[in-house]
Amino acid sequence: MDYEAVIGLETHVQLKTRTKMWCGCDNEYGADANTNVCPVCLGLPGVLPVPNAEALRLTALTGFLLNCDVPSYAKWDRKNYFYPDNPKNYQLTQLDFPSTITGFVEFELGGELESVRINRAHLEEDVGKSFHFADYSGVDFNRAGVPLLEIVTEPDITSGDMAYEYLNALKSILEYGGVSDCDMEKGQVRCDVNISVRPKGQQELGEKIEIKNMNSFSGVRRAAEYEIARQIEVLKEGGQLMQETRRWDDDAGITDSMRTKEDAHDYRYFPDPDLMPHRPSKEWLAAIREEVVELPLARKRRFMEQYELPAGDADVFVGDAALGDYFEEVAKGLKNPKQAANWVINNLQAKLVETETSVADLKFPAVAIGELIGLLEGGQISSKIAQEVFAEMFASGKSPATIVEEKGLSQVSDSGELEAFCREAIEANPGPADDFRNGKEAALNFLKGQVMKASRGKANPQMVGELLAKILNG
Ligand code: ADP
Ligand code: MG
Ligand code: ZN
Repeated sequence: MDYEAVIGLETHVQLKTRTKMWCGCDNEYGADANTNVCPVCLGLPGVLPVPNAEALRLTALTGFLLNCDVPSYAKWDRKNYFYPDNPKNYQLTQLDFPSTITGFVEFELGGELESVRINRAHLEEDVGKSFHFADYSGVDFNRAGVPLLEIVTEPDITSGDMAYEYLNALKSILEYGGVSDCDMEKGQVRCDVNISVRPKGQQELGEKIEIKNMNSFSGVRRAAEYEIARQIEVLKEGGQLMQETRRWDDDAGITDSMRTKEDAHDYRYFPDPDLMPHRPSKEWLAAIREEVVELPLARKRRFMEQYELPAGDADVFVGDAALGDYFEEVAKGLKNPKQAANWVINNLQAKLVETETSVADLKFPAVAIGELIGLLEGGQISSKIAQEVFAEMFASGKSPATIVEEKGLSQVSDSGELEAFCREAIEANPGPADDFRNGKEAALNFLKGQVMKASRGKANPQMVGELLAKILNG
């Protein structure tokens, strides 16, 4: 029998707010332990939470970026459990009336367009972080109360690769939208992976297992692949799968059981009595909708269509949005945007990397690259000289025409001048000249190279070839 995999992801993303969700403490990574804390986020008695307006805004914005609805009513619930990193003994979350519902994320997988439906994206708060030392443990509460968005998919994902590409797409959408930095190293994205398998064609879902708290996308892919194979094997051997939570051991490359359904928590959810429901107004939502930016995939498609760029170039300009914006400046009014893309990607990007600078630091305006291309296409300079001019432009900010003029870099197309170069080269290299006369065509390239060298790259290469052949044959 053939089996198919069913995967649903719950992704926790840290929102890019200045302060925490319910208090004024800094939302800051890397501070000394327990320095960004106050009575509210430490859960001391008698305190009251105050919602962070910026977090609410970013949540609604994320909803729009993920094609979700933002309902006119959302509320807060307490998820109760005791754990040392959870100072209030409950976590605030949104159980049945989340801030955003029913959307989708589109992305490419092996050149095909895929879509994964979003069930909801709800707001919750992070907890502290435990540290275990030789003979005692400690908790850092700096992260307690930091706003997290939990983005829950429908079980639409069918492979580890698809999970991986979905996560990459989600990350770039959230980064584009300015909602989160999605810095994996700082733990800003964590993912629970729900996986089941079922006989192909069966409608009913199989028993799911959940792998908790994955912090790398490649880990998610590997864990999903491993778990799919494991589950299929269990079923093929006539075994049964039970709902359980498993842990991914990245070094060993396996999952192992943490707990089964029997010891699942009962969180005794109830509405938080300290917080009013959130009722977003039409005006508030309309203003946020204005902030929705062009999404990465849409941008890629536009670059491919509008500028007729290959997918690889478009990917570069999606991955580096500032470079892409700059390319659009350069391409304005140019006949051949592909050529502009080549300059921006091959020359400009390389220089920026080399000098550790960004497009904002450039000393020349975007039109200068168009001018340079114009000089090249008009035959005033050779492509080798164009590289030289570009390097000078980058260093000094001078215009290409000025550089060509000042350095006397204009291409030599004067046939009298070129003929002199050619005769010199032939005289200095009688061997290759004879070779050519005896039918060895390739010898011409050698002579041509000598002329280009002697002219310091300024000779018009096509004319040189023609002239050499004429002199040698004549
Ligand atoms: P829970 O209440 O256990 O968290 P949910 O119904 O909220 O479960 O679903 C959590 C995630 O698991 C969602 O992303 C959902 O798409 C996914 N999911 C639900 N059932 C299955 C299943 N049988 N196989 C794979 N994924 C599933
Ligand atoms: Mg769950
Ligand atoms: Zn606080």
